[in-house]
Amino acid sequence: MAQLPNAGVLGAQLTFGPDRLELTASTVQRLYQARDRIEAQLLVDRLDRHRIRSAVLGDYLAGAAGELPVDLWPTVWVLEDRDWSLAYEILSQFLSELAAERPSWICRGCGELLPGGFDLCWRCGRQRD
Ligand SMILES: [Zn+2]
Repeated sequence: MAQLPNAGVLGAQLTFGPDRLELTASTVQRLYQARDRIEAQLLVDRLDRHRIRSAVLGDYLAGAAGELPVDLWPTVWVLEDRDWSLAYEILSQFLSELAAERPSWICRGCGELLPGGFDLCWRCGRQRD
């Protein structure tokens, strides 16, 4: 299996979510950092349909845990190790669908042509207008 980007281990104990679900597992893995809450929720819903347990962290935590950076974006985490490869396949499909829905664009900063799935220019870092 190829090396997975975004794979990480959440070592800390976290409390989050509308139900105050408590996470103590050290094998929870970060699947995807979403651009916003809606995108994160779309991915979680899709994982749900495949019976993969997942959670969104980031936006919930911003006001709840003072020691964490406040600029966290919502991230989707896979709770069960055994779901990881399927979750990653679902993510890949999700991302290619997102990209297909949005037209590619040309950066006003440097003229680079960028796929629709990107909001920042990968060459100069300028934000899409
Ligand atoms: Zn650029």
